[in-house]
This record gives sequence, C-alpha cells and structure tokens, in this order.
Amino acid sequence: MSPRAALRPCLEPSCTARVRSGRCPTHAARHDRQRGTPDARGYDARWRALRTWFLDHAEPAGLCGARLAGTPRTSSSRCQTESRVTLGVRVNHIQPHRRPDGTSDPQLRLDPYNLELLCASCDSRVTATWDGGFGRPRRVRVP
Ligand SMILES: [Zn+2]
Ligand SMILES: [Zn+2]
Repeated sequence: MSPRAALRPCLEPSCTARVRSGRCPTHAARHDRQRGTPDARGYDARWRALRTWFLDHAEPAGLCGARLAGTPRTSSSRCQTESRVTLGVRVNHIQPHRRPDGTSDPQLRLDPYNLELLCASCDSRVTATWDGGFGRPRRVRVP
C-alpha cells in the first residue's frame, strides 16, 4: 500500500496540496488567523457580557417575554400574550442584527433595548418568520 493513499486533499477547496488531515500548512495558518482575530473574540465577549446583564435585568425575570423594565411588551412571546408562564431560554434580537449580506450590525446586536427573552418555541417561531423559514432566504416585503 502506498503511503500516498493515506493523504487527503487540503480542506481549502481550490488547493491541490495533499495532507494527512485538515489543511496544508499555508491554509492552516490562514484559517487560524481568520477564526481567532482578537477583534472577533472581543466582539463575542461583549455579547456574552450584555446577555448576562440583560438576563439579570429583564422582567419578568427568566420568563418567556421578558424585556428590560420600562420597554413595551414584546409581541414575539405568545406565552406572555396568552398569560402562560414559560421559562425563557434564548435571548432574541427583536430587530434582527443580520444584514441581508450576512454581516452583523453591532449597534442592533449590542442594544439591550433590542433584546427579549423567549422560550424555545416562541424563539423558533419568530426566527422562522424573519429568516423566511429555516435556511431559506428572507422574504422581501413589497409595499
Ligand atoms: Zn491548502
Ligand atoms: Zn414562549
């Protein structure tokens, strides 16, 4: 058996290098840089901190439909609309922070007033509405 048989193509689609696993040294280094820039890490740390702060301050605490005190009720929480007490598990952006090109708007993403706590079922319902359904392109609304 030739040792070559154990080699696989580099994971980078256009690359012809053959490697034991993963990427060739060139693409491995590039991939690491893209994955872990300090900027991207700081961005995620800010979101985690905001999320924790929001969960501490949203009312009713821990429940589906919770928002910051003094903000209008959310329409996303069917549980709250129907006066059901359901534990919230996901922090949702009321106005989606994803732009059509897939990038994120940091102002919307890190605005505590743009957040609501939802249970899994309410979260998947509003997410499906905004995304146009799981993975499908967003509906374009014609006025
Ligand atoms: Zn490569
Ligand atoms: Zn709910």
